[in-house]
Amino acid sequence: MSGIFGAYSTAGKTVLEEVYLGLYALQHRGQESAGISWVQEGAVSSKRGLGLLHNAIDQKQIADEHGHCAIGHVRYVPLESSRLQNVLPISANYARGPIAIAHDGIITNLAELTKQLVQRGAIFQSSTNSEAILHMMAQKSHMQPIDAFVDALRRLEGSYSLLVLLENSIVAARDPYGFKPLVIGENNGTYYIASESCALDIVGATLLRDVEPGEIVVIGEKGIKSLRVQPERKCGRCMHCSFEYVYTARPDSIIDGRSVYEARKEMGRRLARKSPAEGADLVAGMPDSGTIAAIGYAQAAHTPFEMAVVRNRYVGRTFIQPTQKVRELGVKIKLNPIEALFLDKKAVIVDDSIVRGTTAERTVTMIRSCGAAEVHIRIASPPVLHPCLYGIDTRKEGTLAAVRMTREELCRKVGADSLNYLTEEDLIAAIGLPADKLCTACFSGRYLEDGEK
Ligand code: 5GP
Ligand code: SF4
Ligand code: MG
Repeated sequence: MSGIFGAYSTAGKTVLEEVYLGLYALQHRGQESAGISWVQEGAVSSKRGLGLLHNAIDQKQIADEHGHCAIGHVRYVPLESSRLQNVLPISANYARGPIAIAHDGIITNLAELTKQLVQRGAIFQSSTNSEAILHMMAQKSHMQPIDAFVDALRRLEGSYSLLVLLENSIVAARDPYGFKPLVIGENNGTYYIASESCALDIVGATLLRDVEPGEIVVIGEKGIKSLRVQPERKCGRCMHCSFEYVYTARPDSIIDGRSVYEARKEMGRRLARKSPAEGADLVAGMPDSGTIAAIGYAQAAHTPFEMAVVRNRYVGRTFIQPTQKVRELGVKIKLNPIEALFLDKKAVIVDDSIVRGTTAERTVTMIRSCGAAEVHIRIASPPVLHPCLYGIDTRKEGTLAAVRMTREELCRKVGADSLNYLTEEDLIAAIGLPADKLCTACFSGRYLEDGEK
């Protein structure tokens, strides 16, 4: 996952600080690196760096620069490839002028495309998906840039939400299945494209709509224009990532017309109805990812909700730290239960998901050590049983707790009195989009079929 944000001022005002702020609101989508690119005097200028946005880019420096159209990116990548060359946006001056690209997603036929490009003379500097798009466009320099871009998109498989900065426009594109979110906003003659609507809120923009699956949006001097990569699929099949609603997105975002907050709360309510814990004294969420589902659970179960596990706000998402050792330590560093609330109590603990099972195990140990009488774990998503082929590449099948153990074994392993998941039907119903518009592959194993690619 990554976060992307772009802004174009039709009035020629500088948008650089707004892009910085937009990325700040998207920091949860990637903490390994950040970059911003804009066009200045006919060439691309960029600021890029490793780490959190404020470590990677100096806000004051950005505020002093001028650019009326700009794009930015925050990236989550495994440590071994977090080199400066891989920090997006990637930029170049090609035959048709300056260009920069930022991408959220995974191009599944990247190896094949790279091979073809290299055979035709391309020299790669990074291992990014975006660089392949850049080379595809450069090799079609006889075409108008927008046509070369559309041509490149037709060759891509997998997931992409893309932002491209051309000399005097920003082009945004969402893959034909709409895996990754992408929204359009506007405020006073400035147009914005963002991974999530929470980034529009920070710049005071109104959410106009989502970029549609397979749509290309061009923002230029005259405003917004829409094109299509491919004719709309007759079957209307989409693959909006259901995990965005479970975990990835911020709860104050609205994705494909559905409030992430509402969806999470409904997941909790449905979980309470299907998997009650009779006689529980309190419901607590694992902060922050499980909190909203826990509120929903507590409401539906008529059991008091308590902020009984406190999170250190200054520690990032544990999962983001790539090694197992750091991950294990991370849970301890990050979370602290309030002993007095748990002593002799029957507690329900709600979390958004179990991946490796590390968090659940640590949580139960922590809460038992507070003297809790019973600990019941409720997970507001179905068991993660399959790897994601569409953009979250960290899950290896062999490390997934639900693959290695049955529910009962996992319950014993984490030391809980009971452990239950949300069903896939309830997940879909809680999100509130039709089943054929959602990807649930990491839960259900239903990937795109070969004929659908
Ligand atoms: P586990 O400890 O079971 O490996 O991971 C579960 C915890 O990690 C949950 O609390 C959840 O919030 C978070 N999580 C689940 N899936 C992902 C993911 O794909 N990426 C990141 N960054 N965190 C995740
Ligand atoms: Fe999202 Fe899971 Fe589908 Fe990947 S497999 S796109 S994480 S729902
Ligand atoms: Mg969590």
